[in-house]
Amino acid sequence: MTPFISVPAAAGKILSVLNEAGHEAYVVGGCVRDALLGRTPGDWDITTSASPQEVKALFRRTVDTGIQHGTVTVLLGGSAYEVTTYRLDGIYEDGRHPKEVTFTRSLAEDLRRRDFTINAMAYHPEEGLTDLFGGLEDLSRRLIRAVGVPADRFQEDALRILRAVRFSAQLDFEIEKETLAAVRDFAPRLDLISQERIRTELDKLLCSDHPEKFRLLQKTGISARLLPEFDGMLEMPQNNPWHSYSVGEHTLMVMQNVPAERSLRWAALLHDVGKLFTRTTDENGVDHFYGHAAQSAVFAESFLRNLRFDNHTISEVSLLVRWHDSHFDGTSVNTRRVIARVGKEHFPDLLAIARADALAKSPYAQEQLLPVYDRAEQQYREILAAGECTSLKELAIGGKDLIGAGIQPGPQIGETLNRLLKLVIDHPEWNTREELLSRL
Ligand code: ATP
Ligand code: MG
Repeated sequence: MTPFISVPAAAGKILSVLNEAGHEAYVVGGCVRDALLGRTPGDWDITTSASPQEVKALFRRTVDTGIQHGTVTVLLGGSAYEVTTYRLDGIYEDGRHPKEVTFTRSLAEDLRRRDFTINAMAYHPEEGLTDLFGGLEDLSRRLIRAVGVPADRFQEDALRILRAVRFSAQLDFEIEKETLAAVRDFAPRLDLISQERIRTELDKLLCSDHPEKFRLLQKTGISARLLPEFDGMLEMPQNNPWHSYSVGEHTLMVMQNVPAERSLRWAALLHDVGKLFTRTTDENGVDHFYGHAAQSAVFAESFLRNLRFDNHTISEVSLLVRWHDSHFDGTSVNTRRVIARVGKEHFPDLLAIARADALAKSPYAQEQLLPVYDRAEQQYREILAAGECTSLKELAIGGKDLIGAGIQPGPQIGETLNRLLKLVIDHPEWNTREELLSRL
């Protein structure tokens, strides 16, 4: 019996408009996979025998999103649907770009060029499921398996090896044995893949329900190409009463312990990478990593820049990494100082990293740190509620006031404001015009 999938009304409408014009059309790929798993599909992609021109002629509102690859976006019922003409991927020249895209009139050909069996199923409300490669069975066995001969498929496009790991993290599936062996064999070919495509997959892996599957990257030789420092972290012990795990084990735990948000997950991955460059062992055999957070931040910034991340993400991640090890002592003065360092808007994320970090340390460290973080969170709420000043823009006076009070314009204005800010952080009640002017 064919399984039933509840296709959104607008997607169903697109299928029937195409069918009535004499074309085949199906929902396909990730949405079919996710619907069969009872997960909510991100978007519903449609595959059709109609050419892009034919698709455009049938719908009022369309966008040429990837017309040279056969993709037209149809806007209907408040949503956007990518409608792609059945295609064969052409000869792969460099494991990177299909040399040419060839359209076909055969659904089977279109499904055969897809990466994994679970991604190669199509569905039509009247015809039911088209599953030519055992995708349904692999779903029930929770397996990622290449369509066809794995090595051939990875030869065409090496990104697929990273996609295999990414799907295994999103779905908590195993990678089937032969496919896994081929993933290992083709890891060096990732050198041919663009940073943007790699970023997309790493990002989805990290933001998945199982970021700890990042470890598979080391087991398959992928991180040796993309982030050899990760392999180094897994091999670096931490002989220190605050720690119970290697740097790498600890890192994987922190990744699991932070919420699934981009900046938090990337910060978790990279927060301790600087330990690789800063380890010292004292005369008692205890390891120290002085200054590792700053080194990690420098590394994170250049690593993310190389992956062509946007500036916002880069600066947020490196900020969290730089200050992840901030000292908290449970006093409100200390909490205001830490807030001033990272900014009110980033403080909750910093606390999330600090907590996740503590939870991945020794029981002793957890006992010492977690209650202090709870107190800091309470104080943060009180500081927000009271509108206490932790930044120059919240200071009761500005540069103009200082000039009015007779201070020469120039660098001393900024220096003075910063000095006043420090005072106000220690004494919130001093943040009034009169008080600050009297203390000049
Ligand atoms: P997500 O939920 O992350 O969007 P998805 O399965 O939809 O997952 P996409 O990257 O959006 O993944 O790709 C859509 C479909 O296109 C896949 O399900 C797969 O059938 C096919 N596909 C995408 N990338 C490749 C690739 N590199 N090689 C072969 N087929 C691919
Ligand atoms: Mg998709």
